[in-house]
Amino acid sequence: MLKTYKYRLYPNKEQSQKLHQTCFLCSLVYNQFLEERRDAWEIGKRSLTTYEQINSLPYKKEEDNQLKEVFSQVLQDVGCRVDKTFKAFFRRVKTSEKPGYPRFKPARRYDSFTYPQAGFAFNDNKLVLSKIGEVKIKLHRPLDGEVKTLTIHRQNGKWYACFSVEVEIKKLPTINKACGIDVGLEKFATLSTGETFENPRKLRKAEKKLKKHQRQLSKKKKGSTRRKKAVWKLARCHEKVANQRRDTHHKVARKLINQYDTIAVEDLQIKNMVKNHHLAKSIGDAGWGNFVLILTSKAESAGRKVIKVNPKGTSQICSECGTEVKKKLSQRWHNCPTCKLSIDRDINAAINILKRAI
Ligand SMILES: [Zn+2]
Repeated sequence: MLKTYKYRLYPNKEQSQKLHQTCFLCSLVYNQFLEERRDAWEIGKRSLTTYEQINSLPYKKEEDNQLKEVFSQVLQDVGCRVDKTFKAFFRRVKTSEKPGYPRFKPARRYDSFTYPQAGFAFNDNKLVLSKIGEVKIKLHRPLDGEVKTLTIHRQNGKWYACFSVEVEIKKLPTINKACGIDVGLEKFATLSTGETFENPRKLRKAEKKLKKHQRQLSKKKKGSTRRKKAVWKLARCHEKVANQRRDTHHKVARKLINQYDTIAVEDLQIKNMVKNHHLAKSIGDAGWGNFVLILTSKAESAGRKVIKVNPKGTSQICSECGTEVKKKLSQRWHNCPTCKLSIDRDINAAINILKRAI
């Protein structure tokens, strides 16, 4: 299976300029490729292949000398990216979703480029990038497995290296234990066993700060320098919150995978079909979706199972006898009038989720 490892890069001034320039040149080629495909279709009534487009690159380099500053495979990958967006477009047309024709990307929003096979290597704590140089990298955790591709990302003024790595599945021993998880507002998650996972205080603090920055931004005049600064601060804050959330997700997922063979979760795709007007709850759900992705990927590499169940009514039905016990979001306790079960509402929901999976 494929796994992504992300590391921070610390380019010097000259390298940073080259990185920006590479993104810029890739965006030019991207938009050219897109235009060619559109023209080929509208004027020539035919479609261009990735192969044809990639083969046109040497001529493009003759016309525009700047393109020689970019490693050839990186430019070739731009052709593959355009192809992907077109394939996705045709798939949407087929399934009669809203198709949304592939759009041009402004250079400022073109934030990454990929080395699909070669052109990069390690030299101590430096990452050697072809046509860029030896860039300082912080390997905060070891890079295991066979590296397939390397994508360089720009995010809020920082640079990152994302390695896509083929990793072997290392099965954990079977322990015949299963659990259901319910996601909450106050707590991050509650298990059917009664165990709970809190949102770490660091995260809650960062979230509070985020709200403050949002309020401040709304007071600034449009187009002002102060507003620009506030936007920047807010983006930084968003990134911090996202990092801390991801960190929590990884830790909780690791714990669950070590303790249970089968883990039952709510299927959010079904849940999202039911309109959710509770804002905080829907934000929580968004985070939950990321957590399930991380959990599923960890489970896959450990030979564990994650089962998604229909979440309808899991918090309202009695996990003991099946009676429907209606309660508002503010009611934290489940009291069943039929079988007299008295239990925390989240634990009740988690048990229901587990029951649906087995
Ligand atoms: Zn009951």
